[in-house]
Amino acid sequence: MGASESQTMPELPEVETVARGLTPHLKNRRFKQVELRRKDLRTPFPKDFVKRLEGAEILDISRRAKYLLLKLDTAETLVIHLGMSGTLVLRPKGHNALPEKHDHVLFTLDNGMGLVFNDPRRFGLMDLTGDLTTYAPFMHLGPEPLGKLFNSVTLKASLKGRNTPIKTAIMNQEVVVGVGNIYASESLFLAGISPFRPAKSLKDDEYQALVSAIQKTLKAAIKSGGSTLRDFVRSSGDSGYFQHHFKVYGREGKPCLCGAKSYILLITPLIQKKVQQGRATYYCSNCQK
Ligand code: ZN
Repeated sequence: MGASESQTMPELPEVETVARGLTPHLKNRRFKQVELRRKDLRTPFPKDFVKRLEGAEILDISRRAKYLLLKLDTAETLVIHLGMSGTLVLRPKGHNALPEKHDHVLFTLDNGMGLVFNDPRRFGLMDLTGDLTTYAPFMHLGPEPLGKLFNSVTLKASLKGRNTPIKTAIMNQEVVVGVGNIYASESLFLAGISPFRPAKSLKDDEYQALVSAIQKTLKAAIKSGGSTLRDFVRSSGDSGYFQHHFKVYGREGKPCLCGAKSYILLITPLIQKKVQQGRATYYCSNCQK
């Protein structure tokens, strides 16, 4: 599998894995020291960023869409987005590693552990907010794909009247958050739905199949990430993003895994690739209708 950008970019499962991996190390710890090695990431750091963080206790670590949320005892929340290439790497107490080229923020915890934000492409973001319910970047976000508010009824309602292709529609963060290009292709394959169908054309059982497929796909990816957690504390800064085994994504020209469905054909159907709204869509025209 090639090392294209979209395969290493953190998607929802990676961000969820990072949140879960950081929790035991960060929860109820305080930021002893925060060092910024530049004045901005994608956007400038908020005013008095270091002062507002130093001494603060981390009460909880969670995720909304692809944002990490560190709830602080100062009534503020540290919002972190990993962008295209961001990683958060824990360093053990007493480590003597010198900062690397793209280490932009160095946090030291009250127990001496370090947390390093490295981001070569600098599309990442760090912000502080006192009220998540009115936080502008979250105002137009749709439901969490693994939450109760995402189901066949709500999906059907939000796609009502939309002629947009279903693949493009489920990648719209106002419809549901966290379904990126890879998981959109994978979910539609699992649901047996063509990515080119108008969003409004799905039948009730197809909305249900799609919701189930999205949830199953994301859960499987989170589960496969869980197995990498034991390596989470590492001294090197190499990307910890896991390679998933995709059924259609990146498999153009390879035999479809639909297997049994193709027995009447003389040849096994091959995965096809087509560019949709500037993004590569992978699908099987034999088993996605
Ligand atoms: Zn197939």
